[in-house]
Amino acid sequence: MSRRAANGAPLVEARDVKKHFPVPASLLGKLLAGQKDQLVKAVDGVSFKIWPGETVGLVGESGCGKTTLGRVLARLYEPTAGEILFRDWPVHSSFFRHTQIIFQNPYSSLNPRKTVRDIIGVALRQRGLRDPQEREAETLRLLRRVGLSERHVDAYPHQFSGGQRQRIGIARALAIQPQFVVADEPVSALDVSIQAQVINLLQELQEEFDLTYLFIAHDLSVIHHLSDRVVVMYLGHVMEEAETESLFANPLHPYTQALLAAIPVVDKEDRRERIILEGAVPSPIDPPSGCPFHTRCFAKKGPECEQEYPPEVQVQGHRVACWLYV
Ligand code: SF4
Repeated sequence: MSRRAANGAPLVEARDVKKHFPVPASLLGKLLAGQKDQLVKAVDGVSFKIWPGETVGLVGESGCGKTTLGRVLARLYEPTAGEILFRDWPVHSSFFRHTQIIFQNPYSSLNPRKTVRDIIGVALRQRGLRDPQEREAETLRLLRRVGLSERHVDAYPHQFSGGQRQRIGIARALAIQPQFVVADEPVSALDVSIQAQVINLLQELQEEFDLTYLFIAHDLSVIHHLSDRVVVMYLGHVMEEAETESLFANPLHPYTQALLAAIPVVDKEDRRERIILEGAVPSPIDPPSGCPFHTRCFAKKGPECEQEYPPEVQVQGHRVACWLYV
């Protein structure tokens, strides 16, 4: 059930956000000799809202732009175009104080030459805690809260297991006292037995600290378990957005249908018809005309699919970009 505040303003809003990366012609190789610099259109006009206390799941295949979008929302990347609003105000650098990101690979996101005290201490200084004793007390409190021990404070990242390192990453994110957390595949690098522990911790912390999450994952069962709403991305665009239960029970966009049909199901009664997607994900340097999914779509409506980007429509409470519903 959605935890969305009934009539309140969204906490975070993306308005027609784009992130394009220039690729120098030299990097494209001699095969493309004579070509000018090109653009990777990783995110190409994405709009959605996240309400306080919600968990929004962001899904799609590798290369769909979900990690780039998460980094734009966390202000690690400047958007090429569009706007990000925080409580209805345009976001600039001050957003850092309200937003944190938890990375997929806790090892590469922690400085190997710093102790846990230093890693969390940097974040606490950013928050404005100047007094060393206060910082020490807060560091120990955060360590305990994420399930680590006070004796870990002098250890270095390589001395921890993957799950423990992710707990350090979570403690560092909490140290800023964020309102909005982008969790970018936070459990996909962990052993299955550890994944559930970290997911439970994130859920407990959401309740305790009143956090709002954008949860990026390719594991749809994790998204189903955690999210209030789901946004489905393909080649830098939103294909479908809906409340989680409705999306999983009744996916409308052909791409969402294909993604969900690929989830392994144990219950024979609940088995969906398998949909095999033809071809590979097209290059975001040279995306298809019209609907970006038309080169792989099994339900193509007609020539309009190849000619014009489908308008977004509201169908059965879902936001869908597909000519089938226009
Ligand atoms: Fe398929 Fe056309 Fe819908 Fe795209 S717009 S998903 S090609 S039916």
